[in-house]
Amino acid sequence: MAKTKKPAKAESFKPGDYAQLIDELYFHNRKYYLEDDPEISDAEYDDLMRLLKAVEALHPDWVRPDSPSLKVGGEVREDFAEVKHDPPMMSLDNAMNVAELRAFHDRLVKAGLKKPVYHIEPKFDGLAIDLVYEDGVLVVGSTRGDGETGEDITHNVRTVANIPLRLMLEKPPKKLSVRGEVIIKLTDFQKLNEKQAKEGKKLFANPRNTAAGALRQQDSAEAKNKMLSFFPYTLAKLEDSKKRFAKEMRQQDTIWSSVFPALGFQTSTYHRTTDIEGVEKYYEEMITNRANVEYDLDGLVIKLNDTTEWENFGATTKAPRWAIALKFPARSGITKLEQVVYQVGRTGVVTPVAELTPINLGGVMVSRASLHNADEIERLDLHEGDYVEVVRSGDVIPKVVSAKPEKRAKGARKVKFLKKCPSCGNALEREDVFFRCVNSACPEMNEAFLQFFVSKNGLDIESLGSEWVAKLYQKKVIADYADLFAIKKDDLMQFEGMGEILAAKILQSIDARRKVTFPRLLTAVGIPNVGEHVASILAEHFDSPESLAKASLEELTNIHEIGPGTAASVQAWFADKTNSGRLKKLIKNGVEILREERKRVSDAFAGKTFVFTGTLTRFSRDDAEAEVKARGGRASSSVSKKTDFVVVGSDAGSKAQKASELGVKILSEAEFAAML
Ligand SMILES: [Zn+2]
Repeated sequence: MAKTKKPAKAESFKPGDYAQLIDELYFHNRKYYLEDDPEISDAEYDDLMRLLKAVEALHPDWVRPDSPSLKVGGEVREDFAEVKHDPPMMSLDNAMNVAELRAFHDRLVKAGLKKPVYHIEPKFDGLAIDLVYEDGVLVVGSTRGDGETGEDITHNVRTVANIPLRLMLEKPPKKLSVRGEVIIKLTDFQKLNEKQAKEGKKLFANPRNTAAGALRQQDSAEAKNKMLSFFPYTLAKLEDSKKRFAKEMRQQDTIWSSVFPALGFQTSTYHRTTDIEGVEKYYEEMITNRANVEYDLDGLVIKLNDTTEWENFGATTKAPRWAIALKFPARSGITKLEQVVYQVGRTGVVTPVAELTPINLGGVMVSRASLHNADEIERLDLHEGDYVEVVRSGDVIPKVVSAKPEKRAKGARKVKFLKKCPSCGNALEREDVFFRCVNSACPEMNEAFLQFFVSKNGLDIESLGSEWVAKLYQKKVIADYADLFAIKKDDLMQFEGMGEILAAKILQSIDARRKVTFPRLLTAVGIPNVGEHVASILAEHFDSPESLAKASLEELTNIHEIGPGTAASVQAWFADKTNSGRLKKLIKNGVEILREERKRVSDAFAGKTFVFTGTLTRFSRDDAEAEVKARGGRASSSVSKKTDFVVVGSDAGSKAQKASELGVKILSEAEFAAML
């Protein structure tokens, strides 16, 4: 599509320009979602969207219900109105195995179909919704509810990236109802949980529940953040005076291959087969391939491909007779518990892990599963050598759900949680459901802790990986994190596999962290119950380790969001002489804690976007970004035309290059510091 001739500034827009801009965005949506062949970069797309929003801000009366700007979210609804489904949304009968599938097939044959042709669709583990379009524009999106009546969730549905707000047809049909499933792709789900973990928030249990929660948010921006996707499965209604698609509508596979794409819907894979053996073969293939699919599948949906037969067969009170859901076997199995091993984490918590005779669960070999804590072992009534049922659910991490006492060997001993630390032999202390080693010299705990300290969630010492830090600790080059800042080149060079270049890089990235903000340090030193979020709250109230160490229990619990548990662990941590000693040593070894003067220094950078690239020496990446935010600016991770400044450290890569291509102003670290 040639770029439309439109004014560069929102102020100069006329209604016709606005309509053209919407068309242009629709064109690019189609290229991106349906043809997988985008013509413009994400940044250019964002620019168009920004222009659209600017125009709409100037002319609120122009805003159309199909404006792509509604995809961005931000609409808030107090409650959900009821929506009556027309026709009702049916559910499907289940077949749990191939024998039950055969029974379904036999009923169709007996009823007179000599050779049924089947259309096979994925059965998503998501939420069914109904989308109603009038004159081509999405007017209502609703949940399935009880099948007769659902809830109006239009504001959230609009934010789902691949749901068209307007059908891509000239002279669209008068009315159309499309039904399908809202899901979160597994890769998107992983990204969501990585973000949760980084922010110290609770992880989402599985994609389905997360999607369900997102669809019922009052604020559509929340739904937008959950990266939902939609896949249609049926056209429940089509009122078109032009009688288009009459031929295609007679076969389910042509609805999928022709009608859905013509309307602007992305479809999942599907399969057509002319006999029941073909269904069985495809089912077996999909069970094997399940682990490679990008979304959670429950099974397959088998439908008569000839939709003109659907009416002939009709439905029972709750389900159609011409379709069935063929479920996949659960991703669970029974295997033998070889032994229980124990891992000491960075805070000293000892976690039991079941080592299992390897078993194939839904295409993935599983040989270990976390047992979480002592109570869980008790709940399972686990005995040595037990056979156990293991499941892999949406959250990917395998879990032992039960033991099988009927298969237990006579005289098998109960699994007893350790009383002493497996690493240092210290007596373990109970804390809620956990047992902890409280010996601050515990080797395994210290090693795990040092690995955390240098990681992205800790101080982010880039070139010092977890293997090297473990080696440094095992060789007694360092005893704790403070020692990291006293490492000399010779200390590193004694290791096999260490070279001049790597050693220099490691020393450089350690030096780059000699200035650290207080909340960053608080997170990195690993105070129990103090993650990134709590650390920043504490840093708002106390400006140094000394003042925090002196805080009374009342002072701490008076802070909003700081509970008695967190307050107690802060006090206990500072009371431990090892911890306070390490902090002192850290300062002695040349680490400087930057004062928190972050609460909006000025508006000097208001409206400006900064991108940092390469290794900075005076600031950590986070600190540099915080400096920008404190002056009203924005920090972004990718360079686009919207970027105002790119600050380039050493070893800067493609971002610096892109900046110069786009003509974005490039700053050295020194120039940036001067601006501050
Ligand atoms: Zn220990």
